[in-house]
Amino acid sequence: MFICTNCGQLTDDKYTCLKCGWRADGLLKTWGKGYKYTIIETGTNEEIFIPIELLKEGVKNDKEKS
Ligand SMILES: [Zn+2]
Repeated sequence: MFICTNCGQLTDDKYTCLKCGWRADGLLKTWGKGYKYTIIETGTNEEIFIPIELLKEGVKNDKEKS
């Protein structure tokens, strides 16, 4: 599951929000709030919605800091 950076709702597709139709690979990408990674084989930069697993880790890290 992924979190849409436009409407904040969950979507099954890492590139397309099924709720608001936003595209992570569209003109405005993910507003710079998405998850970015590079495919080593092709050297292509990909930008996708935030994987929910990543967000859970972030919450855990924040708790450890405070
Ligand atoms: Zn959305």
